[in-house]
Amino acid sequence: MIDFHCHLDLYPDPVREVRDAEAAGIYVLSVTTTPRAWVRTAQLAKGHKRIRTALGLHPQLAHERHNELGLFEELLPRSRYVGEIGLDGGPGYREHSALQRKVFDTVLRLSDKGGGRIMSIHSRHAVDEILERLAAVPGAGLPILHWFSGSATQLRRATDIGCWFSVGPAMLRGAKGRSLAKAMPRDRILTETDGPFGKGPNGPLHPVDAWVAVKQLATIWGISPGEAEKQLLDNLRSLSASGPDHIRARSPISQRTIA
Ligand code: MN
Repeated sequence: MIDFHCHLDLYPDPVREVRDAEAAGIYVLSVTTTPRAWVRTAQLAKGHKRIRTALGLHPQLAHERHNELGLFEELLPRSRYVGEIGLDGGPGYREHSALQRKVFDTVLRLSDKGGGRIMSIHSRHAVDEILERLAAVPGAGLPILHWFSGSATQLRRATDIGCWFSVGPAMLRGAKGRSLAKAMPRDRILTETDGPFGKGPNGPLHPVDAWVAVKQLATIWGISPGEAEKQLLDNLRSLSASGPDHIRARSPISQRTIA
């Protein structure tokens, strides 16, 4: 099972989350919201071979933490994964759009310079801007749009420039989320929980709840949960094969400009 976007460090007991994920054999991408949080969050994953820690600077914190970009640059050589990064054009955040763009553009430029990264991206109310920027810096790496909530047209554009997607139980609960997931290329989807922000009927989701998303995808695809799980693990394998050293050479993002 896979939880490719989870905030392990933000649970009340991160050590317990790591232990539970390990016991259940789950592959976890542990995303961070600030460069400063990365060091101790990466420490949590030490010795756990299925957990990777992504270096992030969350768009909702960009206006408070943009001064950590220097630290981001310093730490970047130590992580193959970048996230959570992105833009948020929603209420309460769009007034900080200039600083968000500065942070996101800097992260893309540094990732490009560093040979490319696998990136977990937040695109709420900002899909067009995100895609425009990704297409402009194809060497930044492989973008995974997490909890995509744009339109069907935006989804097509994202797919055209080579984006992947991570989807979770909270997104797939609604009809819109399910119809978007149905339109995503089946070989470019991973499951996520976005816990503890992602919630289920019993409160914050945990990595094991990625199983709910596997079952939801199985229904959407019209196959068994076992077959869906196999597809998702194949996807993870193909993603892992595109290491940073290879990303530039075989960038999944085409140079095609977005109309
Ligand atoms: Mn998140």
